[in-house]
Amino acid sequence: MHQLTLAEIARGLADKKFSSEELTRVLLARIAQLDPQLNSFISLTEELALQQAQAADARRAKGESGALLGAPIAHKDLFCTQGIRTSCGSKMLDNFKAPYDATVVAKLAAAGAVTLGKTNMDEFAMGSANESSYYGPAKNPWNLEHVPGGSSGGSAVAVAARLLPAATATDTGGSIRQPAAFTNLTGLKPTYGRVSRWGMIAYASSLDQGGPLARTAEDCAILLQGMAGFDPNDSTSIDEPVPDYSAGLNGSLQGLRIGVPKEYFSAGLDPRIAELIHNSVKELQKLGAVVKEVSLPNMQHAIPAYYVIAPAEASSNLSRFDGVRFGYRCEDPKDLTDLYKRSRGEGFGAEVQRRIMVGAYALSAGYYDAYYLKAQKIRRLVKNDFMAAFNEVDIILGPTTPNPAWKLGAKNSDPVAAYLEDVYTITANLAGLPGLSMPAGFVDGLPVGVQLLAPYFQEGRLLNVAHQYQLNTDWHTRTPTGF
Ligand code: GLN
Repeated sequence: MHQLTLAEIARGLADKKFSSEELTRVLLARIAQLDPQLNSFISLTEELALQQAQAADARRAKGESGALLGAPIAHKDLFCTQGIRTSCGSKMLDNFKAPYDATVVAKLAAAGAVTLGKTNMDEFAMGSANESSYYGPAKNPWNLEHVPGGSSGGSAVAVAARLLPAATATDTGGSIRQPAAFTNLTGLKPTYGRVSRWGMIAYASSLDQGGPLARTAEDCAILLQGMAGFDPNDSTSIDEPVPDYSAGLNGSLQGLRIGVPKEYFSAGLDPRIAELIHNSVKELQKLGAVVKEVSLPNMQHAIPAYYVIAPAEASSNLSRFDGVRFGYRCEDPKDLTDLYKRSRGEGFGAEVQRRIMVGAYALSAGYYDAYYLKAQKIRRLVKNDFMAAFNEVDIILGPTTPNPAWKLGAKNSDPVAAYLEDVYTITANLAGLPGLSMPAGFVDGLPVGVQLLAPYFQEGRLLNVAHQYQLNTDWHTRTPTGF
């Protein structure tokens, strides 16, 4: 039963092949058995899950239906869950029980989804390997010695190891797409503003966006449907109608114009990944797509711009963790300054402290123009490059990451080496565009992802292309040995 996708679960529940409670019990037992070696969960919510499953079964018995009614999921541990620990992967919030549900959590609960728990993540979503988590790294089920990607590593591991069919995640610079690529999943970062950020603990507010992680595009469509929509509580949420994503999966790809940026195939890209990306282009050509070379000339400036803007916003967002209002407080503070200093010094890990320092520096008087303002100008140029490319093509295709998942610990001593791995994903966040990663093959037994980008609010187009690709390839069906 644990191999079922969300779509198959919805059919099984509708046909009364099993109940949500039965399925939930199977998955909870599987988590208890396998998660000790994977570390994909920070908290389990067995009691809540069984209550929600029973309630969903009761709603179905009364004739209600819905793709998410009774479907087991988990939330990345930065979505606030009322009365349940919401740690953000940090010692700072290890004792924090959120007083309210994030909009995404509330919407999915109302649709009847069953929450099995809260998933592991890089501390405050800062990282690409899940190694900055206060709760230790999650392990990649394709090879337990390798990282699963981050920051949504726990969500990715749980889905990839078939502990559950889908999970929520967030993407500030790649944290949905990169772990999807590293664990053979499909993950979608929606357009900025498509999914409410209310109750999602902020890392970099102008870049953060929630989205689905699942095995198939079909399942991402189902989960996104439950997450997307206008929210008056989020001033950057956009009041655009949400299309029926599942209904849009079957459009023909005849004449679809795919743009392949020439800058993507540079020296930093593993040539074996380049070959798999070219194969995926050929696959889409067989389905009627036409390919065109495009150019994103400012791409080389994106990493430095992102690693100024994201830490700048983080330094501001994380100033609320002061040891006074909520979260960790140091023992026996001497005075107020000591309280602030030690609560933050002891509560935040090294990577978070590094970013607060970088961000505060970039925003300080005298450096603001040279760093922050300059980075914002680059951000606009990156967006303009995409707008020019999308005048000529319908989607942009390329690798999700330059390399497959690295070994645990391999990049710990060199943060910049990890930052460079974000080269293909961060541009979509800087521009606010939707992006999807889907399985495209393997290198040394480790999964590789192909990334698709589309114009604003064209999540449906990304899901349609990915679904058609998945109907004609079987990479996404491969399961890690032992799971
Ligand atoms: N790796 C990037 C960072 O560390 C992106 C993380 C994310 O998307 N949350 O900032």
